[in-house]
Amino acid sequence: MDFSATKDLFHLPDGVIYLDGNSLGPLPKAALNRVSETITDEWGEMLITGWNKAGWMAKPTKLADRIARLIGAAPGTTVLGDTLSIKVYQALASALELRPDRKVILSDTGNFPTDLYMADGLIRSLNQGHVLKTVAPADVADHINTDLAVLMLTQVDYATGRKHDMAALTKAAHDAGAVVIWDLAHSAGALPVDLAGCDADFAVGCTYKYLNSGPGGPAFIYVAPRHADVVRPALSGWLGHEAPFAFDPDYRAGAGIERMRVGTPPILQIAALEAAMDIWDNADIHQVRAKSIELTELFIKLVEQSCPDLTLATPRDPQTRGSQVSFHFADGYAVMQALIARGVIGDFRAPDIMRFGFTPLYIDETDVRGAVDILADIMATRQWDQPQFKTRSRVT
Ligand SMILES: *Cc1c(COP(=O)(O)O)cnc(C)c1O
Repeated sequence: MDFSATKDLFHLPDGVIYLDGNSLGPLPKAALNRVSETITDEWGEMLITGWNKAGWMAKPTKLADRIARLIGAAPGTTVLGDTLSIKVYQALASALELRPDRKVILSDTGNFPTDLYMADGLIRSLNQGHVLKTVAPADVADHINTDLAVLMLTQVDYATGRKHDMAALTKAAHDAGAVVIWDLAHSAGALPVDLAGCDADFAVGCTYKYLNSGPGGPAFIYVAPRHADVVRPALSGWLGHEAPFAFDPDYRAGAGIERMRVGTPPILQIAALEAAMDIWDNADIHQVRAKSIELTELFIKLVEQSCPDLTLATPRDPQTRGSQVSFHFADGYAVMQALIARGVIGDFRAPDIMRFGFTPLYIDETDVRGAVDILADIMATRQWDQPQFKTRSRVT
């Protein structure tokens, strides 16, 4: 792949080294026209006929099929809609019903809080005695047993970048008779995923991180073909109905993955995602992964050489991490603000983690070296130690 060519397809502001594409991907240049045309030519001219004429109604499955290629899912197994928190809830509700005699949901303490909150909320609504058990990420395998209804994990830890062994844990959970849900928020577009090969039951993920659909872009959900016509959708919205336009007062789940749709899809956001997927359609995710490992290896080496006060929080073995690198530092928030003030954008996760994402479609070695030069200077001169870098904003 020619990564200098893909870099040219993104709008990256002058003077910025963007190391936060793991949290919000940058703007694909083509999204500007695509969204604008959707507004003027489709919404503007077609009005409500756009649902048929412009094919709006089919987009959540059509576009999901293009994401499916990146996550090892067959066409027709994935659909877009809602936010990731909603998709976690849907997957878990359906998964629990597949194991009515079991009550334990196992996750890890490193999971993104919303996944755990959604599980907690669902358990309370069900009021059937389910328990959410969280253990240290390294201990998950030891807690898989025949009490387990559902193993629900995020493959790549949002804070540390640590990556679970999806194939091994899925197999262990299946051997124990449990159902498995993978959250691919930090995997889709970051590394090759093989959902079908691993025999995963459910997967969910977002499109606004590595896939670059823009703030608030829709999430996706995958259901293994063996479950797709069996599971009951907990969020039984009209667009997941077998015949939404029959306006039948009784709910009947739609065929296969269509039943995981809930309500009206966000067409303007989907237009932005289409522009992003035009780039991904021509990308080889194996080459993206190889390049990402080169970039993260270089970043770790240079930071450790030049910033002795920072402690690596990410696994050293590239095979056991995703596409981000995190460092612990007590005043990490202030350092990150000082970095941002000098054009190097990463982010901070409490209590002390500075996160840097490496996205080969638009980040190269020059960016990595440039970012480390600035970081090293900020650390050596203690430039971060100023009041204006210590006031916390709402979003960190
Ligand atoms: C980013 C992320 C989310 C975000 O959920 P939204 O509903 O899209 O805000 C959820 N789970 C994980 C694991 C994430 O990394």
